Amino acid sequence: MTGRQILHVDMDAFYASVEQRDDPSLRGKPVIVGGPSLRGVVTAASYEARPFGVRSAMSMAEAMRRCPQAIVVAPTFAKYAGASRDVFAIFRRYTPLVEGLSLDEAFLDVTASRSLFGDGESIARRIKDEIRSEVKLTASAGVAPAKFIAKIASDLQKPNGLVVVREEDARSFLAPLPIERMWGMGQKSAPHAHASGFHTLGDLANATDAQLERAFGPHGPHMGALARGEDEREVEPEREAQSIGAEETFERDLVSVKDLERALLGQSVRVAQRLFAEGQAARAISVKLKYADFVVKTRAMQLTEPVSDTDAIFRAARELLGRFELGKKGVRLTGVSMSKLGPLGEVVTLFPDVRIARGNKLEAAQAALREKFGEDKVTRAALLDRPSRGMGLGEARDKLRDPRRREE
Ligand SMILES: [Mg+2]
Repeated sequence: MTGRQILHVDMDAFYASVEQRDDPSLRGKPVIVGGPSLRGVVTAASYEARPFGVRSAMSMAEAMRRCPQAIVVAPTFAKYAGASRDVFAIFRRYTPLVEGLSLDEAFLDVTASRSLFGDGESIARRIKDEIRSEVKLTASAGVAPAKFIAKIASDLQKPNGLVVVREEDARSFLAPLPIERMWGMGQKSAPHAHASGFHTLGDLANATDAQLERAFGPHGPHMGALARGEDEREVEPEREAQSIGAEETFERDLVSVKDLERALLGQSVRVAQRLFAEGQAARAISVKLKYADFVVKTRAMQLTEPVSDTDAIFRAARELLGRFELGKKGVRLTGVSMSKLGPLGEVVTLFPDVRIARGNKLEAAQAALREKFGEDKVTRAALLDRPSRGMGLGEARDKLRDPRRREE
């Protein structure tokens, strides 16, 4: 191998921990971050909520069934973006080679930093200490000769974990781990792997390329290499998210256009919040539907100008919805995804969201009128189902005015 030292640092229950940090009354209690509507999903769960089986992406209804005493907090993305900036600034004290995977997770290549700061383990300790003392949050870190191994290692002793894997131990470290640890091994593919006799990463490591190809297709040999700790991928500091999306599987299949539009509106709100939080605007949109028979269809289009606001995203999503075959088969999942991302532009793109945020009362009245008279009623009436999901006007404004926003 290469003598590289890669860190993967991942904040512990990030959104929930930020909420507990900022509100002492939430500390030590089960906290769920997510929309208060039972149709919403869990965005994050504090460690106190996890023993009850609450997980992110679970429906809020299911989460409340499992942990009725949980305190539900609506997400405040601007706050998470602020904490994220603080954490990434600490990363960059130790290396310019920081590849962010999301707001709360990054790879760091510290190979060349060791003469200044000590080995990878010391650097990981210092980063964890500084995050705790300066940002008042905890992180878990993995230190390894490759990305794949570092990512697995950071997850093994959460929360507040630190796992170091030396180059000579990489293969024996990976071998006993369950096959579910392989990248891309989801709930669907794992049972297939078990049925084919692959239960651990060691089983993958010991198989021939031909066996792996037979079991997993063309991607199989690559999984075998990863399982042997062979992962030469570099930490790519300029990497930005390629797309930002939201999708949802429904408890009951949706059929009516109105219900589908309502679902797309909720997803447009979430996508707009994430674009804001990450300071991005998008020039392309796609909408995905999965029908009751599991057939997946996608429709996409380019936008004439970069957008980041709920209104524009929802308008485009609704237009795309019109290009699907609707009304015959039920739809079990919808998704909205924005791509061709670039830095959020000037206030122009802010305006429509300001209107929405400011107008809660006004909007409610207008929606009631529309509901009564039937004009364009989906747009606002549906939005009111998720009243606390919108980013507040003040936050949106802070975000745009924050001079540090584009630095990272
Ligand atoms: Mg995390």
